[in-house]
Amino acid sequence: MRLPPICVPCGRRMTIEKNSALVLLLDGDRQPYQIWSTDRWRCGGCDHAVCRSASVPIAERYERGFEALLNSGEAMLMVES
Ligand SMILES: [Zn+2]
Repeated sequence: MRLPPICVPCGRRMTIEKNSALVLLLDGDRQPYQIWSTDRWRCGGCDHAVCRSASVPIAERYERGFEALLNSGEAMLMVES
């Protein structure tokens, strides 16, 4: 069991707001590169949120199914490299 994320300014444990929240990582040319499944945590004190992922992405652009997942309409947080 892992310690949940801690909000440093508040000194509080964060709680899970959403499991399996998707994050789209863009490459240096701002093109879709990897899709990660993350858990989104939120601090009940200051409302700060963080995403924590597994150690590997669920899809990379050279893999089958990447385009289908990218175009699935699921909400994704876009993150630049
Ligand atoms: Zn906080």
